Amino acid sequence: MKYCVGVDVGGTTIKNGIFEESGKLIVKWAIPTRKEDGSAHIFEDIADSISTKLTETGISKADVLGIGMGVPGPVLPDGYVEVCVNLGLNERFPARELSALMDGMPVKISNDANIAALGEMWQGGGKGYESICMVTLGTGVGGGIIHDEKIINGCHGIAGEIGHMHVTDGEEESCNCGGHGCLEQYASATGIVRVAKRKLLETDVKSLLREKEERFSAKDVCDAAKAGDEIALETLEYSMGKLGLVLSYIAMCSDPEVFVIGGGVSKAGEFLTAIIERHLNSHLNMIKKKEKNVVLARLGNDAGIYGAAKMVLE
Ligand SMILES: [Zn+2]
Repeated sequence: MKYCVGVDVGGTTIKNGIFEESGKLIVKWAIPTRKEDGSAHIFEDIADSISTKLTETGISKADVLGIGMGVPGPVLPDGYVEVCVNLGLNERFPARELSALMDGMPVKISNDANIAALGEMWQGGGKGYESICMVTLGTGVGGGIIHDEKIINGCHGIAGEIGHMHVTDGEEESCNCGGHGCLEQYASATGIVRVAKRKLLETDVKSLLREKEERFSAKDVCDAAKAGDEIALETLEYSMGKLGLVLSYIAMCSDPEVFVIGGGVSKAGEFLTAIIERHLNSHLNMIKKKEKNVVLARLGNDAGIYGAAKMVLE
């Protein structure tokens, strides 16, 4: 039996998992992200933690095919990470560093959104498909494109960063990336709330959201929309309309078999994916027979470790 290890490095915790080649998760665990001194000790911590867990589970290092690792920032084709803001990592080769600490074990690296997409293709909502685009609707909007079972990283490591595609001219508020009018500003959890607040200001129409006096979440907007609230429905039409438009652009570029929607906002379920799918398909006039092409993610926060481990098997 051979194994692979998946590591998903986040700003507060590092998630880890040991998998069988078949995709079966043997054990998962998390350690805190030690960010002091520019995350100087982060790879030692990961190496120690993996070595300890392999000993505990009785798996020999010789039976581990390799480690896959995701980091929250762009990764260049040679594994170089120029800057990783959340970790304070600058100008590093994380995979090389971890490999050296693990006696030369092969280590592969990619961006965290990309490994989540690969994970969903392998064992999640995209299982059974080889080409998918995953969109994570959380605090921000993340994305990853998998083509023929491989991550498209791009030359600068920004392939699949759909949250920062420009969708609106004249936006005055700025995005986290410094841009104005990015998809993330409308379709993320915070974006949905922002759109709803703007709609409430434009009209006096009664709304469940107005009763909450500005203290509502994206979940509240989705719940109100399900209950037939006019403002909430208009909000989702607008926000998911922007997303559907962007997905149609991706369809014209890489033409995936399905789009997989994950992240906290996706808990609204098929009510939400149906809106996205309707907008997407309204722009896909070149395809006559439209099958169900927007599905829900299934792995939640574990998608990253699954995809990281799967990279080893490429
Ligand atoms: Zn942006």
